[in-house]
Amino acid sequence: MLDKLIFVINCGSSSLKFKIIDPIKKKTLLFGLAENFHNNNSIIKWNFNEKKKKIKFYNKITHKFILNYLVEKILKKNLLYDSIIGIGHRIVHGGEKFINSVLITDTVLEEIKKASIFAPLHNPIQVIGVKEMKKILPHLKNKQVAVFDTAFHQTIPIKSYLYALPIIFYKKYKIRRYGAHGTSHKYVTQIAAKFLNIKLHNFNCISCHLGNGSSITAINNGKSIDTSMGLTPLEGLVMGTRCGNIDPAIIFYMFNELNFDMDTIYNILTKKSGMLGLTNITSDFRYIEENYFKNNDIKIATDVFIHNLTKYIASYSVLMNNKIHAIIFTGGIGENSTLIREKTIKKLKILNFFIDKKLNNIFKYGKIGLISTNFSIPIIVIPTNEELMISQETFKIIYKIK
Ligand code: ADP
Repeated sequence: MLDKLIFVINCGSSSLKFKIIDPIKKKTLLFGLAENFHNNNSIIKWNFNEKKKKIKFYNKITHKFILNYLVEKILKKNLLYDSIIGIGHRIVHGGEKFINSVLITDTVLEEIKKASIFAPLHNPIQVIGVKEMKKILPHLKNKQVAVFDTAFHQTIPIKSYLYALPIIFYKKYKIRRYGAHGTSHKYVTQIAAKFLNIKLHNFNCISCHLGNGSSITAINNGKSIDTSMGLTPLEGLVMGTRCGNIDPAIIFYMFNELNFDMDTIYNILTKKSGMLGLTNITSDFRYIEENYFKNNDIKIATDVFIHNLTKYIASYSVLMNNKIHAIIFTGGIGENSTLIREKTIKKLKILNFFIDKKLNNIFKYGKIGLISTNFSIPIIVIPTNEELMISQETFKIIYKIK
C-alpha cells in the first residue's frame, strides 16, 4: 500500500478533471481529463507513471459513467484504489454559506444544490459527482470534502461586494459579488508569503490569475478584500471568450434593437467575446504573443486586455495604500506570457513596479521566481496548483488538522 492519497475531482459542464495526489509529499501520482461528454467523440486521457493513455468512446458519456470507469478500470488496475483516504471535490459556488472547505454532509449537499442558481452549469453536476462517489466508494462516503471557488472571497467587505442595485436584490435574492478562482488565489498567496518569508497573516499582495478565465484579487493580511469576478465569473478582466466588464445597457441594445434573444446574448458574452471576439481569430495567448507585432487586430485586442489588467492592478494598489509585498502572476497566461507581464508592468512604474526583462524571460513553463528589479515591489511568477490545494484542504479536514 502506498501513502495516504486524495482523489481530487473537478466536474465541469461537459468534462471531468481528476488527480490522485499525495498531499504530504505534494506529489501527483495520476492525472487526467475526460471531455466532450455531449458529443460522439468523448475521450478520457490519463497519465500514470509518466505513461500516457487514452480511450475514445464514440458516444455520449456522463459524469456518472466516467467516475465508474475511472475507479473500476484505472484506479483499481493501477493499485491506487486502496490508498485513497479521501475525496476532494472542486465546487464552483458556495453562495454566502461557505467561508471554508467543509466535509460534505447531506445538509452541505443541500446548500450546494441551492447555490446552483448562481452556477447552473456547474453546481448540479458537482452534486451528481458527490452522490456518485458515495455509491462507488461507500467506505469513503463520509470522507468527501467540498472546496469552493468562492470561499476565499467570503472575507471581502460589504463595500466591495455590494452592487449599486436596489438593496432588496442583495437582501432577498443574494445578488452580490462572490468572486471565483478562490482556491488558486489562496494557494499562490500562501506560496508567495513563504517565498518572501513573510507571515501569511501580515502578507499583502495582488494576485493575477490569468487563464482562459481571468481574475484578480486584492489580498490584505492574507485575506481577500476585493476581487474582479462578480456574481458569476463573467465580470472583470477581458478573458479568453468572456467579455468581462461591459456597460449592462449593451445587453438591452442587443435585445431591443438588434433582436437577439437572451440565450444568444448570453452565448455571445460568455463564448464569443473576450480575446476571441476582439481578434476574431483565437483566444490562445501562444498565438496572440507570436502575432502581436504582425497582426493589428491581435495587437489592439491585447492592448485592451493589458489596459484592463493595468487598471485593476493600479486600483487595488491604491485600495491598499500601495503597502503591498508582491504582485503575483499565475494561470496559463500569467505563468507563461512574458509579453503580457512586461507590457502591463511597464505601465505601473508610478506605483513602484519595475520588471527585469531577463528574469521575465527565465520564469515561465512552470518555474517559480521573481521577475522584478531590485528597486521594485516584488513581482513573482507562481504556477498555480488548485488540485494540490484541494488535496491538502481535504486531508486537513479528514484528519481535523487546524
Ligand atoms: P484555464 O482557465 O482553462 O485553467 P489556463 O490557466 O490553462 O486556463 O490558461 C490557458 C491560457 O494560457 C490560454 O490562453 C493559453 O494560450 C495560455 N498559455 C498557455 N501556455 C502559454 C505560453 N507558453 N505562452 C503564452 N500563453 C500561454
